[in-house]
Amino acid sequence: MSNCSVPGCTREAYAIPYLFDIYEDGGIFLQQDKTCPFICQSHLAENEIAAEGIRKPRGVVKYPYTNKKGARGFTVYGPTAEQEQRRQDAREALDKGEDPNG
Ligand SMILES: [Zn+2]
Repeated sequence: MSNCSVPGCTREAYAIPYLFDIYEDGGIFLQQDKTCPFICQSHLAENEIAAEGIRKPRGVVKYPYTNKKGARGFTVYGPTAEQEQRRQDAREALDKGEDPNG
């Protein structure tokens, strides 16, 4: 289990932040954000609400927690391994007709 990378935060990671960009030649850049490799749910929300700039390819967006080196592009989020596992377990439980919360 991974914890949020925001300094001082001890909550469980809710998502993995990725730096996303599309180059002029159409090449896609997508890489886990090394400046904030994990983020919890409340810091993700804060990060998006406080983001300044335009989310577009080659754009510049300033975030409170992610992309601390100011790379071009913008932040997107993907599920953590734990989230994926939980989702898969719930799906399997549903397939078997079980209550996914039980
Ligand atoms: Zn956090």
